[in-house]
Amino acid sequence: MQAVFDGHNDVLLRLWSNARKGADPVLEFSQGTAEGHIDGPRARQGGLAGGLSAIYIPSNHLVLKTPDENGHYATPLSEPLERQPSLDVALEFAAIALRLDRAGAWKLCRSTQDIRTAMEAGVFAAVLHMEGCEAIGPELTELETFYAAGLRSLGPVWSRNNIFGHGVPFAYPMSPDTGPGLTDAGFELVRSCNRLGILVDLAHITEKGFWDVARTTDQPLIASHSNAHALTAVARNLTDRQMDAIRESRGLAGLNYATTMLRPDGLENAKTPLSDMVRHIDYMVERMGIDCVALGSDFDGATIPEDISDAAGNQSLIAALKGAGYGDAELAKLCRDNWLRVLALAWHEAP
Ligand code: ZN
Repeated sequence: MQAVFDGHNDVLLRLWSNARKGADPVLEFSQGTAEGHIDGPRARQGGLAGGLSAIYIPSNHLVLKTPDENGHYATPLSEPLERQPSLDVALEFAAIALRLDRAGAWKLCRSTQDIRTAMEAGVFAAVLHMEGCEAIGPELTELETFYAAGLRSLGPVWSRNNIFGHGVPFAYPMSPDTGPGLTDAGFELVRSCNRLGILVDLAHITEKGFWDVARTTDQPLIASHSNAHALTAVARNLTDRQMDAIRESRGLAGLNYATTMLRPDGLENAKTPLSDMVRHIDYMVERMGIDCVALGSDFDGATIPEDISDAAGNQSLIAALKGAGYGDAELAKLCRDNWLRVLALAWHEAP
């Protein structure tokens, strides 16, 4: 079995929502549940050894637009959020991540050595990510605090605008060039992440924002959960030019399992064959090389193919890739080594 370290999941969102209804996140994660995609037992079963787990402030009333007679849809961007209560919610997510760590349900990793040690011990290796920085103010004061709490990766924006920049809507077909990029505060956020050693994630940002980060950051370019726009023309996917820049920086893109980002028609439909996933991996590998492609499932954050269904089914994808001709050395890169390489760079670890 290939151990997988994965670039994006929303398990904290599920644990947080259920905790609000009285559930115990530690028990839910360690004992397992039938709900959602990730918990300890299912992760072990599917060889999901760890991944970036997002702090995400939910948008109220986000309903994806139904496609028109041509199969086209364009969900408007979610409304911007206020820093309060976003900060409260972000602190609650971080508290759950820290409680799971303290209880030994997972390991909250702050270095690639932490990740390797947890993976060897069979403990889920979580890295704290922030998907949209509504909890952080223009002075960036909170960034230090979240860093101390274990934050090691962030996307300046989710698919909504904030004081740092502009996000892309969920829309098909649509170019990712949907609006302005980083604000002045956004440039400062990127520079601060460079100083602290926090990975800057390009998923969800507009194409202009992508290029703004590219000319500012000292890190490789990383899109943690994005696929090929040439195959699925949703605004969230990466154009060939963006992928060329990722390759030149020796960064990576992680395959998103969301069916909307895999299917040629961009629809949300669990009856999506694994071959659609293999086709995106093939395209991304051809464009960027085997060192710049990885996995970014979006477990607990999206409708995924029923042949995977949840973390326990993760090896179905690996088997499909094997069937498509990927050997063990290539699979090791796709499944974990590429992520470990770019994390070490973004975190200023000695080679
Ligand atoms: Zn996302």
